[in-house]
Amino acid sequence: EYLISRTPAPPARLTVLAGPTAVGKGTVSSYIRENYPDIQLSVSATTRSPRPGEVDGVHYYFVNDDEFDRMIDGGELLEWATVHNSYRYGTPRAPIEQALAAGRRVLLEIDLQGARSVRRAMPEAKLIFLLPPTWEELVRRLTGRGTESAEEQQRRLDTAKVELAAQDEFDAHVVNTDVGVAAREVVELMDAPAGATAFRPNP
Ligand code: 5GP
Repeated sequence: EYLISRTPAPPARLTVLAGPTAVGKGTVSSYIRENYPDIQLSVSATTRSPRPGEVDGVHYYFVNDDEFDRMIDGGELLEWATVHNSYRYGTPRAPIEQALAAGRRVLLEIDLQGARSVRRAMPEAKLIFLLPPTWEELVRRLTGRGTESAEEQQRRLDTAKVELAAQDEFDAHVVNTDVGVAAREVVELMDAPAGATAFRPNP
């Protein structure tokens, strides 16, 4: 006789939160940073300059092009991408490996290219796609931020259209209507067994 024990799949330890530009990924991940302290947020390196209120080492590691090149050459980045045809962004590998080894949950807030790279490098990662309530609301949020030029806004809207079309590649979807609700749904999905999906928006 055989005793077959069926243990449920463990929760995904590594979760990627992606979605179109201006959908509020940064707001949702900041909310999670402040309200769910046992979830470790990955701090990316970027070659862009800090926006008002952004703190080096908290929101990003702000580095110049030479430093970014050194990180790539040294194999320090799990993935990296040029986003919106302008600046480079990358995920430092070591803090993630350390957190996973210690059994902590890690959340990466990165772009679509980065999400695809992580899927290739770590197929066990759970990929969550953050959606705007409507396209009009996405446009409103993007123009309302007022930190980018009109040309840059148009470029980001073009990118957002392409990015929205990729949502079916993701394991789960969360609609960002209210930041606190969306954050809680992301955390619940992180704790759900691999493969579990929820919060699918209306088609
Ligand atoms: P922002 O400049 O508005 O902070 O971010 C621009 C875009 O870069 C966002 O879509 C954000 O998710 C993405 N991003 C931030 N960090 C990383 C990263 O480490 N890797 C990748 N691939 N994208 C990132």
